[in-house]
Amino acid sequence: MSKEHDFDEMMEYLREKFEVGAFPGKDPDEDETPNRTPFEVLISTVLSQRTKDVNTHRASEALFEEYPTPKDLAEAPLDRIKELIKPSGFYNVKSKRVKRIAERIHQEFDDEVPDDLNDLLDFRGVGRKTANCVLVYGFGEPAVPVDTHVHRISNRLGIAETNDPEETERVLEKKIPKKYWIEINRLMVQFGKEICRPRNPRCDECPLTHMCIYYEEVYLDGD
Ligand code: SF4
Repeated sequence: MSKEHDFDEMMEYLREKFEVGAFPGKDPDEDETPNRTPFEVLISTVLSQRTKDVNTHRASEALFEEYPTPKDLAEAPLDRIKELIKPSGFYNVKSKRVKRIAERIHQEFDDEVPDDLNDLLDFRGVGRKTANCVLVYGFGEPAVPVDTHVHRISNRLGIAETNDPEETERVLEKKIPKKYWIEINRLMVQFGKEICRPRNPRCDECPLTHMCIYYEEVYLDGD
């Protein structure tokens, strides 16, 4: 079954409901959209892997307070990085990754994070979601970062019928007007945390039921 998706209507609802949205490194209690440098976005997104927002925020704050630039982090002792990023979990792996990324930015890119997708993907530990987050949140460039929330919601709505986030990214780029790309991640992530949750989505509170396959085929069917 397929559904018509009115992206203007969808975005109007999401914008109204979630003024700020969510993205890596943001304080979950912060109610304004903060400015982050591309370097902060890149490192925070690596730290955000497999942890909660609040832990990513704590680890990022501690790390950037002591090592605010690629050069600082490149020259930082590994043990100190581990200590600072401990709240984010997996700190043995993550500390090596962020230090190595900082070293490469310092040595190969003159302390400036590259704004090229392929250059970003060349950093170890940086996948498409992270690279696209850097483009959107660091450089303000249109891109579609697809994490588990965006992947799940797109499939529930029936915008995509895909098995992995990379495929979903390709479908969303084709279907969603480019003018919405810059906002789609932060809004869908917040929507996924509050309404279209991984388990027990709150379909009874959702105004997108008329364009949602999950609602028709799973939610109503289970009633
Ligand atoms: S109707 Fe339910 S499953 Fe569909 S988008 Fe809304 S919350 Fe998610």
